[in-house]
Amino acid sequence: MNTQRTPRRASPQLMAIARMAENLATLAPDALTHLQHLEHAIDGWPTRGDAVHVSGTGGDVTLNAVEAAAEARLRHSLDRADIQAGIRLLEVTCKDLLEACHHALRGATTVEGPRLCDPSGREGSLVPLDDGGWADWTCRDAAVKNGLCDRHYHKERRWRAANGLPARDEVRAS
Ligand SMILES: [Zn+2]
Repeated sequence: MNTQRTPRRASPQLMAIARMAENLATLAPDALTHLQHLEHAIDGWPTRGDAVHVSGTGGDVTLNAVEAAAEARLRHSLDRADIQAGIRLLEVTCKDLLEACHHALRGATTVEGPRLCDPSGREGSLVPLDDGGWADWTCRDAAVKNGLCDRHYHKERRWRAANGLPARDEVRAS
């Protein structure tokens, strides 16, 4: 059986998701800032104004201007929390998927070839690279030291030292 992998073709679905995430990278901070401005604008507003009629599940209610402002402020705050929670969910989902694929491929490569660099289960591996993390979950280099490629072996070592953790014992991949 020929188990050699053919060159990989990127999934159009995942490429589309990556483009959406790229748009989110600039859109989400703008949206969060905008919602925060709206909240601040409502702070201390208003002490006068017209009553507002609101239809809700409990039937129509009439809010005075202060209540309406408090209601609007709460809505902006919840919208902001929704966006922040969504971003965290996206991050966790991506990391889980990467880890699942790494696990699947690690199993597949034990027979047919070298193990791949795999940061799963290691301290600091879930810290984003932008936040000073060491693990690049997209790395497809062969594991040469301690289950990692040469580059990530050194990055992990430096990260552990910087975070006051003892060095891992060096184990060469067989
Ligand atoms: Zn690597």
